[in-house]
Amino acid sequence: MSAVMTGYGNAKLITGNGIPTEVSSPNATVIDFRSDTVTKPNNEMRTAMMNADVGDDVYGEDPTVNELQKLGAQLMGKEAALFVPSGTMSNLIALLTHCKLRGSEAIVGDESHILHYEQTGAAQRINLRSVKTFADGTLDLEEVKKKIRNSKDAHQSHSVLLCVENTHNRCGGRIVPQKWIVKAGQLARENNMKFHLDGARIFNAAVALDVLVSELVEPFDSVSVCLSKGLGAPVGSLLIGTKHFIEEAHRCRKALGGGMRQAGILAAAGILSLAKGPTRLAQDHIFTKQLAVTAQEVGKGVVEVDLDTVETNMVMLKVEPISGATPNSIVKRFAESTEKEVHAIGQDIRLLAYPMTETNIRIVVHCSNTPEDIKLAQDKLGYVFDEIKQSNAV
Ligand SMILES: *Cc1c(COP(=O)(O)O)cnc(C)c1O
Repeated sequence: MSAVMTGYGNAKLITGNGIPTEVSSPNATVIDFRSDTVTKPNNEMRTAMMNADVGDDVYGEDPTVNELQKLGAQLMGKEAALFVPSGTMSNLIALLTHCKLRGSEAIVGDESHILHYEQTGAAQRINLRSVKTFADGTLDLEEVKKKIRNSKDAHQSHSVLLCVENTHNRCGGRIVPQKWIVKAGQLARENNMKFHLDGARIFNAAVALDVLVSELVEPFDSVSVCLSKGLGAPVGSLLIGTKHFIEEAHRCRKALGGGMRQAGILAAAGILSLAKGPTRLAQDHIFTKQLAVTAQEVGKGVVEVDLDTVETNMVMLKVEPISGATPNSIVKRFAESTEKEVHAIGQDIRLLAYPMTETNIRIVVHCSNTPEDIKLAQDKLGYVFDEIKQSNAV
């Protein structure tokens, strides 16, 4: 539970409107690695938004939304898709739609986004049962087997859904092995359960593995994907599945207040994010690896970086307790600078990162980061870690 409490609350320590309050210096360069949600729509997107053909999407009459949904379904190799305001609503609709009979429950990983960062919204209607998550984002299938409840016993709720996350956020953007996903899907099917993917960053996995995203999502009955993260759209997610499932999801979206009327304005950006976003992600992954290698080298004694786990656009810095520093203290220091430091680096650099757990700092690379940002970030990491090491030496 304590890990949950160190969530977004801590990020607020250093941010107001996305910029640390301390950064009042007009000369400071702010490099934002808190999340890939911070990306802003580019000019091409803004132009497409301005020119979008629109209609009332609650009536299914917005041509741009319809085009986006068609494109999303096509890319995923599924029948239909639904445009929704957020990944959180997308997961919520999926869970409520699959678990529509009263007394049903979904099995989720104990490190899943659904459990940690969505106010467990689904749990306000259905039961969520959590199972152990391993470091690679897989779940303990033996535990899943033990926890599935589908007897007629009136004492028990009914397990009807198994959820998986790929790439796995709290595991540091890990790509969940497809072999395991196929096995988990078989287990779900054998038990008459549906299989849902929280694929907020599934395109990162597809690009890193150099496979079609449709291959990765093939075992799933439903998929949620964020357009607003690394793909670069300002708003929105897609929920994808069979035609029947999406019809029901459409009803559910309305009940949750997610019917957005002339949403083609947003969908126009979404279409570009799907058309151009995925191939571009490869660049984020290259930058991420560069940062990870630097952090591992210059951070020795302060943070530990396991390069083998850096697979997509995230790096986890595991803070060494012996350093005397904590994720919070380091993140705070990243966002500040000193005169001495500005002199040494030659610039006032402020890094924003996210103290994700009691031990880990998360760095997320995205399409707003330039090669110059990465170089400056490397300088900053080197400087701050040296400073921490020196303060321990005296
Ligand atoms: C970001 C994220 C979501 C939720 O997306 P929002 O659009 O922020 O609501 C869901 N699952 C995972 C794994 C995420 O990273």
